[in-house]
Amino acid sequence: MPRPKLIAANWKMNKTISEAVAFAGELRALLPTVPSHCDLVVIPSFFCVRPVVDALVGARAWVGAQDLHWEKSGAFTGEVSADMVKDAGAMYVLVGHSERRHGLGETDAVVAKKFAAALSAGLTPIVCVGETLSERESGRESDVVERQLTVAFTGVGADDARATVIAYEPVWAIGTGRNASPDDAVTMHKTIRTWMQGRFGAPVAKALRIQYGGSVNPTNAESLLSCDEVDGLLVGGASLDVGSFLGIARAAATR
Ligand code: PEP
Repeated sequence: MPRPKLIAANWKMNKTISEAVAFAGELRALLPTVPSHCDLVVIPSFFCVRPVVDALVGARAWVGAQDLHWEKSGAFTGEVSADMVKDAGAMYVLVGHSERRHGLGETDAVVAKKFAAALSAGLTPIVCVGETLSERESGRESDVVERQLTVAFTGVGADDARATVIAYEPVWAIGTGRNASPDDAVTMHKTIRTWMQGRFGAPVAKALRIQYGGSVNPTNAESLLSCDEVDGLLVGGASLDVGSFLGIARAAATR
């Protein structure tokens, strides 16, 4: 049985509450045009999580948050806990996005703590991994991604691993207009699945959804989604417009 494709919209630091709710309303109206084997997730800023959840009640689309703190509560000004994310109605949460790893100094160890907190709150984490351009150019891309996985999955059990989504997002492809080729994406997705198989066994590796992310748009989505190894897409810039986001999701119909 093929894994359902998961198409997620990472809005980053974009959209006010009214803009987010307007998008959700349009999305809701256009959902019948999206193939049924395709799951959609909208990942707005924290402020917009609850309003978008409310706007999508009963619709075949889910909501995620872009980050969380690993502690349950306390003196962490400006932070949001996993329980708060869950309480706002989110089902998914991004963990270790490259803009946090590379722009905000988030280490593998911090990513691991956030991942564990998300799992214990019952959220579905989307764990982002990926190499920089210099790491790829020096042939270290698999080593880097395997290191990120090794640290993130320390202490994680098989059931939690199975419920996790991994997003392969090469740093050089994010927001640059330069996407990985389908061949490069498939090669890394196979590396990730093989690593998961070695760590958790074949059934978990087979069930795991691995998204590709990095400069996806309605034009290149089809060639990526037509690869069996690509179980979905994490979309940044091209997800801000509902027509463009749904154009990407509709590309899943052609597989
Ligand atoms: C992202 O933010 O995860 C992303 C992939 O961004 P973009 O699609 O803009 O490259």
